[in-house]
Amino acid sequence: MPDYSSIAHNLEQCRTRIPEGVTLVGVSKFHPAEAVLEAYNAGLRHFGENRVQEIVAKAPALPPDIKWHFIGHLQTNKVRKLIGIPYLIESVDSEKLLRIIDDESRRAGVTSRVLMQVHVAREETKFGFSPDELIGFFSKRAFESLTNTHICGIMGMASNTDDSDRVSADFRLIAATFAQIKQVAPDLRGFDTVSMGMSHDFPLAIAEGSTEVRIGTAIFGQREY
Ligand SMILES: *Cc1c(COP(=O)(O)O)cnc(C)c1O
Repeated sequence: MPDYSSIAHNLEQCRTRIPEGVTLVGVSKFHPAEAVLEAYNAGLRHFGENRVQEIVAKAPALPPDIKWHFIGHLQTNKVRKLIGIPYLIESVDSEKLLRIIDDESRRAGVTSRVLMQVHVAREETKFGFSPDELIGFFSKRAFESLTNTHICGIMGMASNTDDSDRVSADFRLIAATFAQIKQVAPDLRGFDTVSMGMSHDFPLAIAEGSTEVRIGTAIFGQREY
């Protein structure tokens, strides 16, 4: 039986560094339901997963008041299985995916809440819109034809580097993109979430205006893939 006794303590340590008004999402990917429950019992209600098969298996086995965040790359052929489960899909990285989420949500009779993923990091492998693409998307009011999808904000990641100036600059660009979207589409309702910051960089993200941090390792320990 693995030892989950450090989870509540880790969570407390994180909380002391997260101001009121910033949502803490515990990223529980690759960790078992018992680990989620340990954090749940310590008061955490927002959890993040990045694989459809894992969230589909975990969600029904855990308390129904958990707010699940889907944070991984979402393949279009898996959207139907996912719809209805997450509180927030944070990783919308193409207009095509957005359309499919909207279609499948309509078909299921639900409204999906989503974030648009913006790519600013140096790594080429990360998914998402460039800041210009995203501002263009909102300028042309491409969101107006959505019937069953509510865009609640944006999500992004900083470069994976020890250079904290670089990381802060990435977060600043994500926050500036968010501000610019609000300028080009001031009538957007409930567009209020800037999801940025992970275990190793969340204090920098908060300093640049994050409203939601996604923390895995610092709460649950190393993942075993
Ligand atoms: C895994 C993951 C996290 C959490 O990463 P940690 O370094 O373990 O805190 C946050 N965001 C996304 C998108 C992830 O895939």
